[in-house]
Amino acid sequence: MTPIKLAIVGVGKIVRDQHLPSIAKNPDFQLIATASRHGTVDGTPSYTSIEAMLAAVPEIDAVSLCMPPQYRYEAAHKALVAGKHVFLEKPPGATLSEVADLEALAKANGLSLFASWHSRYAPAVEAAKAFLAATTVNSVHVVWKEDVRHWHPNQAWIWQAGGLGVFDPGINALSIVTHILPSLFLTGATLEFPQNREAPIAADLRFTSAGGLPVHAEFDWRQTGKQSWDIIAETAAGQMVLSEGGAKLSVNGELKFAEPEQEYPQLYRRFAEIVKAGTSDVDLAPLRHVADAFMLGKHKFVDAFYD
Ligand code: NAP
Repeated sequence: MTPIKLAIVGVGKIVRDQHLPSIAKNPDFQLIATASRHGTVDGTPSYTSIEAMLAAVPEIDAVSLCMPPQYRYEAAHKALVAGKHVFLEKPPGATLSEVADLEALAKANGLSLFASWHSRYAPAVEAAKAFLAATTVNSVHVVWKEDVRHWHPNQAWIWQAGGLGVFDPGINALSIVTHILPSLFLTGATLEFPQNREAPIAADLRFTSAGGLPVHAEFDWRQTGKQSWDIIAETAAGQMVLSEGGAKLSVNGELKFAEPEQEYPQLYRRFAEIVKAGTSDVDLAPLRHVADAFMLGKHKFVDAFYD
């Protein structure tokens, strides 16, 4: 089969760190163009807008949309109308409704839409899911605490409405939780907003399931020193710790699973699979929990935050 002719829109940090190396190693894809106001990729024709790129390079089959979420819908809509398959970086959009609209448009046009959740492809996630499915889970504690100054320097969009603030990393935890646990719903939350920002710097979330499973999630962007991306489950078979963002699985302190990280190569394998199968993969559960937190959560104002 000839490779899928791919274009990238929004050439920034995640494109350079992950998309380009993963695409280069995947024979199912050939990168033939980019569209970005400033960013370019050496050796690849570049355009400063998606409109100019789609007009100039009609042979594009698919686009990966890697700009901040507030600008994803407009680009995705243009791409789907032009007959292109679409890979959405996480979070898939700024609202639930706009992503539902894209899903319907993709279906009506016979195109594939992929709402990617890279953390679901972290090495130990499937092992954690299998472990939990084979036992009784009594409670779950999610701790996702990192230093925003280290991980998100100069990203103004992340602090603007729709940028999600601490939910930008927190939604990665939720993408794992919604994959490895039964269906959950929020029962209470507190979101902490710096006085000078439109998005929260911390969030404390309480969930339950129909069966009464208590799940507590703590997201915080003020963590200096050791960073925490852990999901801890107390179960009938002992304490399970899925740590380092899903990279390692331990049970009762014993390391059970650790493999090299392959999240983005896996995402592109999955995208090729759905394009070939003529299907879409759009799970909105992680974004729905974030929307619920903004809807149900108490809003507390805390000290102003400066970069
Ligand atoms: P970024 O570097 O700040 O932004 C990506 C690119 O989007 C920018 O270089 C910029 O390119 C374009 N852009 C910025 N503001 C824009 C605007 N107002 N309108 C149109 N385009 C704009 O961000 P990133 O870290 O790559 O993250 C992008 C997406 O990937 C986010 O949704 C994020 O959650 C997700 N993601 C990031 C990481 C990570 O480690 N950084 C990991 C996984 C997923 P031009 O100026 O050239 O247009």
